[in-house]
Amino acid sequence: MKDLVEQRSLRPTAVLILLVVAVLVWVGMELLRVGPPPEIVIRPAIAFIGKRTPVTVEIAEPRRGLSYVGVELVQGNLSVPLAAKNYDYPSAAAFWSAGTIRDTITAEAGREKNPGLKPGEATIRVTAGRVGTWLRRPDPVRQEITLPVRLSPPALQVISTQTYVAQGGCEAVVYRVDDSSVHDGVRAGKWWFPGYPLPGGEKGARFAIFAIPYDMNSADARLMAFDASENQAERSFIDQFFPKEFKQDAVELSEAFLNKVVPEIMSQTPELQDRGNLLDNYLAINRDLRQKNAEALLELAQKPGQEMLWSKPFVAIPNGKVMAGFADSRTYLHQGNVVDRQTHLGYDLAVTRRAPVPAANDGIVALARYFGIYGNAVVINHGCGIMSLYGHLSNIGVTPGQKVARGDTIGQTGETGLAGGDHLHFAVILDGLPVNPVEWWDGHWIADRIARKLGPGFPFTQ
Ligand SMILES: [Zn+2]
Repeated sequence: MKDLVEQRSLRPTAVLILLVVAVLVWVGMELLRVGPPPEIVIRPAIAFIGKRTPVTVEIAEPRRGLSYVGVELVQGNLSVPLAAKNYDYPSAAAFWSAGTIRDTITAEAGREKNPGLKPGEATIRVTAGRVGTWLRRPDPVRQEITLPVRLSPPALQVISTQTYVAQGGCEAVVYRVDDSSVHDGVRAGKWWFPGYPLPGGEKGARFAIFAIPYDMNSADARLMAFDASENQAERSFIDQFFPKEFKQDAVELSEAFLNKVVPEIMSQTPELQDRGNLLDNYLAINRDLRQKNAEALLELAQKPGQEMLWSKPFVAIPNGKVMAGFADSRTYLHQGNVVDRQTHLGYDLAVTRRAPVPAANDGIVALARYFGIYGNAVVINHGCGIMSLYGHLSNIGVTPGQKVARGDTIGQTGETGLAGGDHLHFAVILDGLPVNPVEWWDGHWIADRIARKLGPGFPFTQ
């Protein structure tokens, strides 16, 4: 009986000892084990370092996590930090847990961040520190890639001559770039006019149609070419600029007019909030909705198509009487008070009620719907950033995506949107910017300013 008791009490003790030993062995192994080294993958966005080369670094340390990561750009003796990050991690006592085991760091290598960078080669170096234990302090892990440094911009040469441009008007420029250019065109103020391959031109020959915006009274336009790392070449190229005085106009907002236009536009534009009275609603339309429509046109201009779809002058509506011109500066009066100022960015042409509206030129319908201040509207894309807009229609006769030929009837004039009476609002829009339509109606102007520069690859006939 006594033996039995002793045997029984011995067994749990032995189990306990075994258990303690096992735990100690596990703890010891855990303290020694730090797992495989971190994996580091360096991905530059492009295969060279230039003005701005984005770099993505992916790091994984699946065992105990990361303590820090540093990214630097090394060239000779010069090392410049690009990014550095410290991580919170569990103490050595909590040896079973892990901190951040995976991270992605983005950095930017290039001359903008490292003004001392020289042509040749440079190395992107990533160092990752690992979380240790009481018994093991693993070395940091390092990974590098070496890339060529390219700091010279694309070659850019202006070919066309006699660049004369008026405020609010357009012009073409023909130029040549080398292989390294990934993005080129003309910048004027905040507007960007992209370049296109010159039709029938040799490799690297490009053209851009650009405008000096109606609200810019200097010829501050530059031809630019960028490589993949944003090294940029730029040239001034305008020989003559003609500033323009635009017409001043006053618009008296009668109650009858407000009652005519505001409820219709509000009902067709559900996103507009009712401000409780006619004038405030009108002002929201004239300012905010006008601005939103302008932004929508800019967005529409982002998919211009690489080809000119037309080869003849733009046509106006026959017998249209000019009611308002391009870039007229309008002051809005209500009961004798100035309540708003806006610029009228098209031509108002009146004929008879419900007169047929011709497509100004060959193209593809980009928009055909109720469109804010323009009421029932059609926008036609003519390629290479050129679009035409027809507003206030009583009826729309085309659908988006439809091909139209110059002179095709696309609808009838009307007085939808911000219109006091039946007329056509006609606008020419270049890369989202309304420009003076008069030039585009003028075959001589197109022949001289556009077709002559583009050469025989653009088969224009007057
Ligand atoms: Zn108008």
